Amino acid sequence: MTETIFNKIINKDITADVVYEDKRSIVIKDINPQAPTHLLIIPKKTITMLSLASEDDREILGHLMLVAGKVSKMLELDDTFNIVINNGANAGQTIFHLHLHLLSGKSLNLFPV
Ligand code: AMP
Repeated sequence: MTETIFNKIINKDITADVVYEDKRSIVIKDINPQAPTHLLIIPKKTITMLSLASEDDREILGHLMLVAGKVSKMLELDDTFNIVINNGANAGQTIFHLHLHLLSGKSLNLFPV
């Protein structure tokens, strides 16, 4: 499996702006933010993309969601944020190590009514 920049960040081979870290995940600020708050919630286990996750990943996938809630409280995001997962190059995925984008402070208006 090819090592991505996220493996290097997890292994502390390169630095990142780390907001939160635990045994199974790390949360960093996106280097090219698309909203006033733009975080990346990254599992330490390498999962290439969501569609390639397996039953074995059930626990870590749930954990990432709970980390999103926890970090939103830590940063006092007022229960107002979007979670985005880009799955596959045609959907905009550029780093092939699953990650959740947490965006806040700007309306994405993804599903206008
Ligand atoms: P995606 O396009 O969904 O794969 O998201 C990858 C994200 O990683 C992009 O939003 C990039 O801006 C971000 N990114 C790339 N390199 C770094 C880095 N060294 N530190 C923080 N964010 C990064």
